[in-house]
Amino acid sequence: MSSRPIYLDNHATTAVDKRVLAAMLPYFTENFGNPASNSHVYGWEAEAAIKQAREILATAINATPEEIVFTSGATEANNLAIKGVAEAYFQKGQHIITAATEHKAVLDPCEYLKTLGFDITILPVQKDGLIDLTELEKALRPDTILVSVMAANNEIGVLQPLKEIGEICRHRQILFHTDAAQAIGKIPLDVRSQKIDLMSLTAHKVYGPKGIGALYVRRRNPRVQIAPQQHGGGHERGMRSGTLYTPQIVGFGKAVEIALTEQATENQRLTSLRERLWLHLSHLQGIQINGHPTQRLAGNLNISVEGVDGAALLLGLQPVAAVSSGSACTSTNTAPSHVLTALGHSEQLAYASVRFGIGRLNTEEEIDIVAKHAIATIQSLRKQATLV
Ligand SMILES: *Cc1c(COP(=O)(O)O)cnc(C)c1O
Repeated sequence: MSSRPIYLDNHATTAVDKRVLAAMLPYFTENFGNPASNSHVYGWEAEAAIKQAREILATAINATPEEIVFTSGATEANNLAIKGVAEAYFQKGQHIITAATEHKAVLDPCEYLKTLGFDITILPVQKDGLIDLTELEKALRPDTILVSVMAANNEIGVLQPLKEIGEICRHRQILFHTDAAQAIGKIPLDVRSQKIDLMSLTAHKVYGPKGIGALYVRRRNPRVQIAPQQHGGGHERGMRSGTLYTPQIVGFGKAVEIALTEQATENQRLTSLRERLWLHLSHLQGIQINGHPTQRLAGNLNISVEGVDGAALLLGLQPVAAVSSGSACTSTNTAPSHVLTALGHSEQLAYASVRFGIGRLNTEEEIDIVAKHAIATIQSLRKQATLV
């Protein structure tokens, strides 16, 4: 184990917290009942466990338990929100607004809706990664039915102004969806005060298991309609059929509970680790931070490095640090990150970028090791570049 690189890719996924795993285990074996079985204790146990997790999640975002719809993750939640609203409201209008730096799980459903005749506006972002609220206002039309803007970006960690966006949308009676996959447990979220109508969540970015997520769907003021995208036994109030995955749901609840309890202290710790990493790296010339300097996730440092080849940089870092450039979800294709090009970077600079995702298990010592190695790698690549 000690020879494996230091894991600094916590925006791609996180390790399951041991406390989370312990909470999940009984629901695989002893308490394995189907939560929909209402005639015996096996079903009741599972149902009770799911009820508890649903309450934790609802409280975490200031919603009610009936407003939580479990899904397989944030990808499914985004699809359900965007396609579900499109299908339910197409007679009202067929215009949807999103932003250039969204996750593919938002952009691709929007692209798909285009093929069905919907009109999609993709807002540009400013150099710091934030959307421009006046641009948003200008983009709104009488036929706009949905605005989808993420809470926290998975590559550059930038936090969008949810409350301001929510107010603009509510004022015009346009639904507001936010992908909060990277935000849940990391920053305060409040669907009431932030005027959010739909919110996508996932467990595996917050030390919970993979394959479980949720969509918050507002039930009052206004009551949001979504057309189900998966039909069957009518689970989750008909919005998402399929037997609920009790162990994963229990783990999701536990993960969020822990993250909320530790949020303030953990954010302080992560911020100091990030500052430590940047203090080391900023001794080099020609390195810039991508995204807003302070309005960002505590554990995120995304840098662009001038004068090096992106692929060579990642290869050089690999033995010591498990990091990525761009997002894991798109790292199989060779195009530069759409998020970094949206900030106005050249392709070359977008390629020569590294995302450090610092997490719960990282230590100061690890940050020092990674920083030292990154500096040596960059210096050596730059030296080679001047020799040719
Ligand atoms: C990880 C991520 C997703 C996808 O979530 P899954 O649960 O893996 O489907 C969507 N949006 C953002 C911002 C993410 O970081």
